[in-house]
Amino acid sequence: MIASLSRLKPRPISSVCALDPRGPGRMANDLDTSRRAVVSALGAGLAATAASSGSAGAEPAPRRIVGDPTTKYPKGPFPQQHQAYPGLASKMNPRPDHGETSYHGSGRLAGRKALITGGDSGIGCAAAIAFAREGADVAITYLPVEEPDAREVVALIQRAGRKAVALPGDLRSRDFCRQVVDGAASGLGGLDILVNAAGRQHSVDAIADLSDQQFDDTFKINVYALFYLCKAVLPHFKAGAAIINTTSVEAYDPDPNIIDYAATKAAIMNFTKSLAKQVGKKGIRVNAVAPGPVWTPLQISGGQSEEKLKKFGLDTPLGRPAQPAELAPLYVVLASDENSYSTGQVYAAVGGRGGP
Ligand code: NAD
Ligand code: MG
Repeated sequence: MIASLSRLKPRPISSVCALDPRGPGRMANDLDTSRRAVVSALGAGLAATAASSGSAGAEPAPRRIVGDPTTKYPKGPFPQQHQAYPGLASKMNPRPDHGETSYHGSGRLAGRKALITGGDSGIGCAAAIAFAREGADVAITYLPVEEPDAREVVALIQRAGRKAVALPGDLRSRDFCRQVVDGAASGLGGLDILVNAAGRQHSVDAIADLSDQQFDDTFKINVYALFYLCKAVLPHFKAGAAIINTTSVEAYDPDPNIIDYAATKAAIMNFTKSLAKQVGKKGIRVNAVAPGPVWTPLQISGGQSEEKLKKFGLDTPLGRPAQPAELAPLYVVLASDENSYSTGQVYAAVGGRGGP
């Protein structure tokens, strides 16, 4: 089922999820992150976008303060928590930072039209916010139970002055994947970027306990849907269009408790490289992002055991997990036509351990 925006009214901006802008490790839900603070920060972001995407000779953007990457975000131990799959970012503690108050665009995707699967939360959400602030219209997919998160993202895309299309449904269905591509193309008036960010990860220690159903579902969501979507989107794509898949550090350095998931991420990495060779002559680029540990609903809804979650990301050289906002720049650069010679590549943000 394709939902039009008239059915999906954005919630007030007061519910936007964000880490507290006053400092690293401050949690929005512990502090008074007021509606005014978020709105004014967003306003500043939009003002910066408008200024930086203006004509040549405009004032340079204010100098950014460069922070220490080891202390920029919380490092844990994280409060014990579990949500039923797929989980909501808006109910996580601390709430993930998707770049709501921090991402400043500079017109790098002006006029582009992007479909982002799993754009309601986590890495897909961060890419959706960044793409909109870079000037792209954005369609997102998500599961119907994730509508509260999706409404916030739709509101943020619209606040950036861009068109948003919301497409709830289950990507295990080939028919839904086809509907999604058609719905995004007709809703946005074209399509030239596909980001495959939807995915499922469920931790199971022993192969004896890994059910056939889980193995099947993990491949259906992570690999089959990506295949259906790439196949359906290519007839819409002209030279200059880009596909960005989401693989993982798990494709290179798999953990023993997620063997089905790690195998799908290796498949995605490989699929990316062969599809890039196939469509290169048409001027279509296909790349992938390989994240390391990122604080998202996927991890607290069965992706990790509660024990592992407490120490999540601590064993990386940077000593903490990433926030989704830290992945968004990779999706932007891979989508941007400034990066026109990169195809069949995997760009990683793994905190210094594993990866390509
Ligand atoms: P997330 O839970 O925020 O996003 C995953 C999204 O997948 C969900 O929001 C949901 O909309 C979608 N999804 C799941 N099952 C679906 C189904 N049956 N039909 C339709 N949509 C479905 O988590 P995230 O970590 O941001 O995940 C985004 C991508 O990043 C995934 O591909 C994941 O494998 C990858 N990744 C995540 C990490 C990490 O540590 N979080 C690390 C490496 C790679
Ligand atoms: Mg989600």
